[in-house]
Amino acid sequence: MAKNPADISKNFCVMPWTNLATETNGKCKICCIVMTNKYVKKDDGTDYEIQTDAIEDIWNSNYIKNVRKKMLAGEWVSDCFYCKGQEDQNQKSPRHSYNEMWFDESVISKAHESRASGGYVTALPTSLEPRPGILCNLKCNMCWSMSSSKIFSERKAAVENDFAQIPSFLKDDWKHEVEWAAKSDFAWSEKDVYLENFRKCMPTLKRLYFTGGEPTLIKSNLTLLEQMIEAKKTDLLVSFTTNLQVLPQEWLDILPNFSRVEVTGSIDGLAEVNDYIRFPSQWKNVSENLRKLYDMYPKIFLSVIYVVQVSNIFSYVDFIRWVAVNFPERQMQVMPTMLQGPEFLRPEILTDELRLKATLYIDEALEDSSIMLKNREYLKDIKSQINNINPNAGDLRNKFREYIQYLDSTRKTQYLKTFPEMKSLIDGK
Ligand code: SF4
Repeated sequence: MAKNPADISKNFCVMPWTNLATETNGKCKICCIVMTNKYVKKDDGTDYEIQTDAIEDIWNSNYIKNVRKKMLAGEWVSDCFYCKGQEDQNQKSPRHSYNEMWFDESVISKAHESRASGGYVTALPTSLEPRPGILCNLKCNMCWSMSSSKIFSERKAAVENDFAQIPSFLKDDWKHEVEWAAKSDFAWSEKDVYLENFRKCMPTLKRLYFTGGEPTLIKSNLTLLEQMIEAKKTDLLVSFTTNLQVLPQEWLDILPNFSRVEVTGSIDGLAEVNDYIRFPSQWKNVSENLRKLYDMYPKIFLSVIYVVQVSNIFSYVDFIRWVAVNFPERQMQVMPTMLQGPEFLRPEILTDELRLKATLYIDEALEDSSIMLKNREYLKDIKSQINNINPNAGDLRNKFREYIQYLDSTRKTQYLKTFPEMKSLIDGK
C-alpha cells in the first residue's frame, strides 16, 4: 500500500487528481504553476473553457487523462516544466509542497482508479483555482494585458495612439498582446456554465484559491462564498492573493465563516518602492489592510509574497525588518520569489559593481542575528540568484533602461527618486 507519493510513481504530483486551475480567459490548466499557454485541449486541438464546457468533460479529457497516465508511469509532463526546473536545481518545488499538504488516502485511491481505467477519475476536483477575469486596480511594472485590466487599457492606448513612443523592442510584443487580450473573453465570472461547474464541485471541495486580476474586486467571488455559507459548505481552505489596495468589509465579514482562510499579500518593497513597482499603489492602503488581516489571526493566516526583481533587491532587508518591527507578536512569513519575466527586469541584469554591492548588502544582513533564520535562508537564495551571470545582461540592461524611461515619461514617475542606488544602471555606466 502506498504511503507516500513516490510509492505511486517517481515525480507523482497530487494536482492532476485533485485540482483544476483556470487562466483569466477561462481556459484551463492542471494547476496555477503551469505556464500560461499550456491549456487543457480538446481532441480537435481547441481549448476547453470553464465558462463553456462541462467540468466532467474537462476533468476527464484525454489531455488530463494523458497527464495522469504519464505521471503514473513516472514521466515528467511538459506542463510541469517549472517544477522540474526547480527540482533539477535541487530546490523545493510546488509539487513537493502540494504533495505535503494534500497527499492522502483519497488521492491514493484516485491514483489506483486511474491506473486501472486509462487515466479516468470519477470524483470531481476537490481543489479549484479560478482566475475570473483581469479586473484590477494596478499596473505593476512586470505585469501584462492578460492579467490586469489597467495594463490592458494602458497598452491598448499606447498601441492605438502613441505607437512611435513604445520602446522599439516591445512594439511587436505589445501589439500582439493587446490583440490577444482584445479578443479574449474575460467577462465570464457570472456565466451560467462556470457557476454551474463550481456548484457541482462545491460539496466535495477541500480547497478554493482565487487569483486575478484582483480577486476582491470580482463580484462573483463573493457571491460564491455566500452560496457556500448558505449551503453550509464551510469546511474547506479558502485562499486568495491580493495587492491590498482595497479590502472590502464584506470580505472581512465573510471569511471567518470558513474553517481555514489563508491570504497572501503581494508586496514588492517598502513604501515608495512598492508604490513604484505596483503602480499606482498607495502604501497607506497596503499597510492598513495588512494590519487588518494580521489582526484577524487565527481566523485568517496571513503571509506576504515578495517578487524579487532588479529594482527591489536593496529593499528586501528593509522590508523584512519593517515586518519584524510592526508585526512582532507572531511570525508572518515573507516569501521571496524570483521574477520569471520579463527578463529585462530580472536581478541578473545588475552590473558587476551593483552585484557586488547587493552581495555585500545581503552578507551584512546574514550577520544580523535579529533576522529570522527562515529569512536568512531566503536571503541566501537571493544572493545565489543575483550571482547567476546572464550572458545577455548588457543587452537586457539597454532594454531595462528604455522601458523605465518609457514608464517614467508616460506615468509621470521618477525612477531614480525611488531607486537612487540604481543610478549607474540608468546612466548606462
Ligand atoms: S508537478 Fe508542479 S506544475 Fe505539475 S501539476 Fe504538480 S505542482 Fe503543478
